[in-house]
Amino acid sequence: MKYKHLFGPVPSRRLGLSLGIDPVPYKTCSFDCVYCECGATTKLTAARNEYIPVDEIISELDSFLSSNPTLDYITFSGSGEPTLNIVIGRVLSYLKKNFSQYKIAVLTNSSLFSDPEVREELLLADVIMPSLDAVSENVFQKINRPASGINISEIINGLIDFRKEFSGKIWLEIFIITGINDTDEEIEKLHAVLNKINPDLIQLNSLDRPGTENWVVPADEETLEKFKKKFADLPVVTISNYQNREKIGSYNLKIEDAILSTISRRPCTAEDLSEILDIHIAELNKYLDTLHENGRIEAVKKPRGIFFKTTV
Ligand code: SF4
Repeated sequence: MKYKHLFGPVPSRRLGLSLGIDPVPYKTCSFDCVYCECGATTKLTAARNEYIPVDEIISELDSFLSSNPTLDYITFSGSGEPTLNIVIGRVLSYLKKNFSQYKIAVLTNSSLFSDPEVREELLLADVIMPSLDAVSENVFQKINRPASGINISEIINGLIDFRKEFSGKIWLEIFIITGINDTDEEIEKLHAVLNKINPDLIQLNSLDRPGTENWVVPADEETLEKFKKKFADLPVVTISNYQNREKIGSYNLKIEDAILSTISRRPCTAEDLSEILDIHIAELNKYLDTLHENGRIEAVKKPRGIFFKTTV
């Protein structure tokens, strides 16, 4: 069966061997983050809908999981915001009823957490990985560029409420953007809010390779240290504390070779590669990250987007 809404299993640093479910069409998102590795948001919306019919998702899951594959997690993620699909709660409850041996994670930008229905739909998950990059409205607007009607104070209140309602793990991610959310004032505000949300883990992330906007640069060690010092009383880690992807069982060297051989002939964007190699963009991004980290590819910004080429 050819899967349209599942991808992987991918070698995920944080989740190990993870089967991805992408429940919305490409770049359907409530944010247009300056650091997004999937490119600019093409459908910016806060409207929930059955973007992918529930039956399509369930039939793909039935087919994939029928062989009882070894997985660490089944993860709602992809190239947009998973909670925009109104059926997310139904898929979660189907998985828990029929494939209870698997743990479920949801990656979310938190934008819809002010909606009690969204929060309730996520209660069956084992791990929720929400993002929170800012506390001040102007910083939030600069980094996440949300759909109209979304504001950061409602998101924060939603996250505080969710902590009281949810008995699973919350691993909250903060993406550090040098010069935007790394001021002493913003870090102070984040610290106060994190104390209220009380996540089980705070993961500091920074750019691996060029994002949507080329002025976004990776946070240096000094900046990461500044955050870690201010959050010393909180359960904080940096993404680099996780194991290398190559050591995760599902890391597929054939995919790596296919990427290298394609871009050695002509530089390609992630979207081009995803189409040429018929690999989901979120899965492809994991390999691009590793190849970039290991210095085997480089990224060049051109008018049509970020192009990847080999370094040798
Ligand atoms: S990083 Fe996530 S939330 Fe931000 S634009 Fe990309 S898909 Fe949407």
